[in-house]
Amino acid sequence: MINLYGMEMKKLQTLMVERKQKPFRAVQLFTWLYEKKATSFDEMSDISLSFREELKRDFCLDLPRVHTKQVSSDGTIKLLLELEDGYKVETVLMRYNYGNAVCVSSQVGCNMGCSFCSSGILGKQRNLQPHEMVGQVLVINNLLKAENRGEHVTHIVVMGTGEPFDNYDNVMDFIRIVNNQKGLAIGARHITVSTCGLPERIKQYSLEGLQTNLAISLHAPNDELRNKLMKINKAHPLKEVMDAVRIYEKNAGRRVTYEYLLLQEVNDTKECALELIELIKGTFGYVNLIPYNETNKNDYKRSSGNRVHAFLDILMKNGVKATIRKEFGSDIDAACGQLKAKVG
Ligand code: SAH
Repeated sequence: MINLYGMEMKKLQTLMVERKQKPFRAVQLFTWLYEKKATSFDEMSDISLSFREELKRDFCLDLPRVHTKQVSSDGTIKLLLELEDGYKVETVLMRYNYGNAVCVSSQVGCNMGCSFCSSGILGKQRNLQPHEMVGQVLVINNLLKAENRGEHVTHIVVMGTGEPFDNYDNVMDFIRIVNNQKGLAIGARHITVSTCGLPERIKQYSLEGLQTNLAISLHAPNDELRNKLMKINKAHPLKEVMDAVRIYEKNAGRRVTYEYLLLQEVNDTKECALELIELIKGTFGYVNLIPYNETNKNDYKRSSGNRVHAFLDILMKNGVKATIRKEFGSDIDAACGQLKAKVG
């Protein structure tokens, strides 16, 4: 069975031609799935009965099952979704004043092994298929529809569990489906992919011709410290990452966001701030400082408010644009990997 939610337009067109259908069938199917929100092939009244039977035989429209749902007082919804094979992934809806953003997972587990992150503890179990990422967005859209306030998902951040660039092709198909005008029509500038910094993939992404955003998880301004926090830095040290960022800026004509998690007395010192300024000098990116969500899986502590603001001040006084990431769902297990860690 092929899950139709995982087919991007070009692949679907090829498939239609292979099945002796006209390529416009693909547009028709997209319209049924994403605009008219059909949930069965029977509803697709402008598709011949015989082809509908064929579709029913070979394709499905299954969505991940909601295993656990938590709703925060700030409206954040955190879901643990169960996939066909029983694996579970987290998906979070964050409500900003400018729209509804979904934080999408790209893998079951993660192989990058960052020492502060709970998603990587068990390693990667498997990549998510495009339909499983589209499914995360559709499940959230269904919940929003049920609220009856005319809201839907407007922004996507691929910042959930997993390293999106370690599942590159599937993530790109996912982006094409949600970005397609006949698909979920989410504007490219409303879509952000976050990577721990895989240089070859950053360069590849820069040539996709997309207007989507890229966030780079830096978290440390030098190799010595970054090696301790992020195992991947031993394979791809900062110079490689920064060279790839410069190539990305040139090819894509877009600026990146640097994510910088603040860990008390680890990477939040004045020296680190000054080194960070040097590191990113000459690039156009801005820094997003992330308050750390503590877990009982390690000893890292969240930097105090004073230290966060002192760090921010140094960046700003030196002309580096920086913000502190808004936090959501602090009264539920909305921090990275927490819900899954609890439910298992
Ligand atoms: N692998 C990708 C995307 C997933 S992680 C990446 O590394 O960017 C998304 C972001 O959440 C990363 O910046 C990651 O470092 C951060 N993160 C991981 N654990 C966290 C925690 N406990 N608190 C706050 N941010 C965390």
